[in-house]
Amino acid sequence: MNSFARLAMVSLGWVVAGMAAEPPGTARPNILVIFADDHTTQAISAYQPPLKLVRTPHIDRLAQEGVLFERCLVPNSICGPSRAVLLTGKYSHLNGVYHNSNRFDGSQMTFPKLLQAAGYQTAIVGKWHLVSDPTGFDYWEILPGQGQYYNPPMIRQGQRVQHKGYVTDIITDLAIQWLERRDPSRPFLLMCQHKAPHREWSPALRHLGWNHDQPFPEPPTLFDDYRGRGRPEREQDMTLAKTFNELDAKLKTPPSLNEEQRRVWEAYYGPRNEQFRAANLQGADLVRWRYQRYLHDYLGCVLAVDESVGRLLEFLDRTGLASNTVVVYSSDQGFYLGEHGWFDKRWIYEESLTTPLLMRVPGRARAGRRCGAMVSLLDVPETLLELAGVPVPPDMQGRSLVSLLAGDVPADWRTSFYYHYYEYPGPHSVRRHYGVVTERYKLFHFYEPDVNEWRLIDRQEDPLELKDVYNDPAYAEVRARLHAELRRLRKELRVPEEDPPESFSGGERGPATRAAQSMSLGGPTPDPTGLWRPNLPPWGR
Ligand code: CA
Repeated sequence: MNSFARLAMVSLGWVVAGMAAEPPGTARPNILVIFADDHTTQAISAYQPPLKLVRTPHIDRLAQEGVLFERCLVPNSICGPSRAVLLTGKYSHLNGVYHNSNRFDGSQMTFPKLLQAAGYQTAIVGKWHLVSDPTGFDYWEILPGQGQYYNPPMIRQGQRVQHKGYVTDIITDLAIQWLERRDPSRPFLLMCQHKAPHREWSPALRHLGWNHDQPFPEPPTLFDDYRGRGRPEREQDMTLAKTFNELDAKLKTPPSLNEEQRRVWEAYYGPRNEQFRAANLQGADLVRWRYQRYLHDYLGCVLAVDESVGRLLEFLDRTGLASNTVVVYSSDQGFYLGEHGWFDKRWIYEESLTTPLLMRVPGRARAGRRCGAMVSLLDVPETLLELAGVPVPPDMQGRSLVSLLAGDVPADWRTSFYYHYYEYPGPHSVRRHYGVVTERYKLFHFYEPDVNEWRLIDRQEDPLELKDVYNDPAYAEVRARLHAELRRLRKELRVPEEDPPESFSGGERGPATRAAQSMSLGGPTPDPTGLWRPNLPPWGR
């Protein structure tokens, strides 16, 4: 046999074997999306954060067997809006969810609907938080609103159901029960969406005391004084020093516990709270105590989420589904674990701008690979559609990660990213801002009538993001380039010149806010002398 014939036989054999292994109709992968709430990369051991806070062996397994994306950015760092991004692959100004009070328009296109139309059976269990009822799912059982940690009520296809136990375990049970009774002849999409580790960070009772009272290392910016930045950073309302309340601190017993649970809860917190009260801590000592209590509770919640991942992976192993199931782990955004003295999210600053993203994709992803490219939650729906062989609608705004999974970063991969946060006035008083993020820099704008401030952050020189260099003449060229890129992105992404009325959550509208945004964008180009200031519009309305 000559080499050509041998090659032809080998090729034919490969094709036949491929067809035998993946007969038409069953080759499409199942998809399991595990989506946490406020789970930040600092609290996943596979991300190797500077602080070693907690071990997450089951999430880490996804990094070992799949791809870990080191810098996954969210377009708008808050719960409801991020969930809408994940469903639609679009920015807030196109999916209509700017802040947590907006109602998600369930008639719009979503990736679960597209998968459902392509023959997938689809289900969502856990946190939804988009006000309207889920659409595009054959089965849904969701927490009402934010949900509660202990003994949560849920809504199953429109009917209220009362559960007993811990929310993360219950959501996992529901996910596994659905998998057990699904139709095995069709591929599935299951979205398992946890409430944890959202505020007020209530761990499972089995995890109380998990760190044996060993102190957690403090971040270097726990006592940030916000010098070198401006009013929005100083005037927010999310510090451990001011904002952290008695429920957050577990100085009050959660009312949802039953009597048996309350005994376990109080046996742990009771004596420690007594000791705390007797010490009468003030100032920095009080902040330090709160930081330790916060991390015990937040990371304790993460332990149960990690166990949930372990149970789901074990189910896939045991039932033989693992070899044809895509598993995604992510969260709606990152979170501050005391950095800048903060808890919560919302800012374009790194801890809340980024979110974990790990994907295990049998046959398509190189195991153990870490990908440093700038990716986004926007990219996830496109990726899942491509993996399922379903065409991606042209109006989705992300880009499929399939080539990155295999280890190839396309030459024209994004080098900049647009961010826009809207929920002001609102909880935690973080001002509206939008900006452009590159690998090294961030240029962003607080654009309200009373606070009209630009920032330029150089993460290479200032990794903790403590110093605004916007007016530093040395950065004039960088600043001009980033301004141009910001304008280009806003045009490409079709961001409206003015914030639309539905982006305002309260009754308070701030009409001049909108003027400030459009004016500074269309206003003077920053001059290279570094002396340029925003041209303040007349606020007299
Ligand atoms: Ca969240």
